[in-house]
Amino acid sequence: MSRVLIIGAGGVGNVVAHKCAQNPEVFTDIFLASRTLSRCEKIQASVLDKTGRTIDIRQVDADNINETTKLLKEIKPDILINVALPYQDLALMEACLNAGVDYLDTANYEPPDEAKFEYKWQWAYRERFEQANLMALLGSGFDPGVTNVFCAYAQKELFDEIDTIDILDCNGGSHGHPFATNFNPEINIREITQPGRYWENGEWITTQPLEHSLEFDFPGVGKRKAYLLYHEELESLVLHIKGLKRIRFFMTFGEEYLTHLRVLQNVGMTSIEPVEFEGQQIVPIQFLKALLPDPSTLGENYTGKTSIGCLVSGRKDGKEKRVFIYNVCDHAESYKEVGAQAVSYTTGVPAVVGATMMLKGIWKRPGVHHMEEFDPNPFLEELAKRGLPWHVEER
Ligand code: NDP
Repeated sequence: MSRVLIIGAGGVGNVVAHKCAQNPEVFTDIFLASRTLSRCEKIQASVLDKTGRTIDIRQVDADNINETTKLLKEIKPDILINVALPYQDLALMEACLNAGVDYLDTANYEPPDEAKFEYKWQWAYRERFEQANLMALLGSGFDPGVTNVFCAYAQKELFDEIDTIDILDCNGGSHGHPFATNFNPEINIREITQPGRYWENGEWITTQPLEHSLEFDFPGVGKRKAYLLYHEELESLVLHIKGLKRIRFFMTFGEEYLTHLRVLQNVGMTSIEPVEFEGQQIVPIQFLKALLPDPSTLGENYTGKTSIGCLVSGRKDGKEKRVFIYNVCDHAESYKEVGAQAVSYTTGVPAVVGATMMLKGIWKRPGVHHMEEFDPNPFLEELAKRGLPWHVEER
């Protein structure tokens, strides 16, 4: 018996609501709150249609700590699943501390006026969560999230020593728009246009945005070019995977996507600096977001698959070994099941699986924690049951 409050009624929030509703043994009472009530209503209607369950909905401004604290004290959930934007992470962690509620998110905090993501702001909450006997689980999406658990699984079950990890993320699907992002455009574009960064022999190495690339044969998709990016799970994995010599993150982008992005960047449309326009302050990237397709509407005509995993190399029983641990997810099948494309699906399912681990007490430790700190096996078992089967392939 447990009560869950989901915050954020976007593409990922839709998947989380459906997946909680599909599992009434764990999620007995489901609440969804977001900034725009009409988006909650749409999800509420879809969940009722697909599962026969009624979820409770509320309007909330998650930037307002007092408002969220009041909502938490009224609903008294066992866990808050934060699938709003990274900007809300700290305010929601504060509200959870005020109301005595466990916390889970899928993306680390970013200050709105600086395109920079780091865990330091959320790590600063460790002692307060410990003292309050509450748990915060950070980054329970796919990457970060499942990729962290794949690394923990490699360390526990597949290797004696790990040398290198490449996290490889491919969206081999097609949504039919000349340019669109698969999750929140502002967050997505900020991530891609930053300098790249990877970790080697104890040092962080910074690269130009999209400077390095490689070709990889992605299961279910085929050969694709993937570009080196900085991604948040690298920051925690270097602390928790023992003996690691190098870790990098790569994501695929098509030529058309990159050409659009280059043009938008060149004309200043991806800037986060406000500009004066006809007596009003406008942030170009926020204006661009208003013009681009809403990621939660991409699902209907989406075809193809996502293929995301960890290429791990090292030794087992004295022998050199290299494996790819991965999941392949089909856009059209995700849409049929929950009305969402596979990028939202592969983020929402692990959020619900992470919450299940916490609510069942399988992953339970006061403080602020990362996915790879816990036993990977029960998580991966549940993940496969809930729609994201995973595989290990020798390479
Ligand atoms: P969307 O933009 O589709 O949805 C975000 C939702 O949050 C919207 O409904 C929005 O409200 C709501 N929201 C924003 N600000 C507030 C606020 N102040 N108070 C209340 N609600 C608010 O994003 P996605 O669903 O695509 O992404 C959700 C999260 O998942 C993001 O943090 C993203 O970074 C993360 N993510 C993680 C991945 C992973 O693998 N770990 C992969 C993909 C995404 P409104 O409708 O009014 O705009």
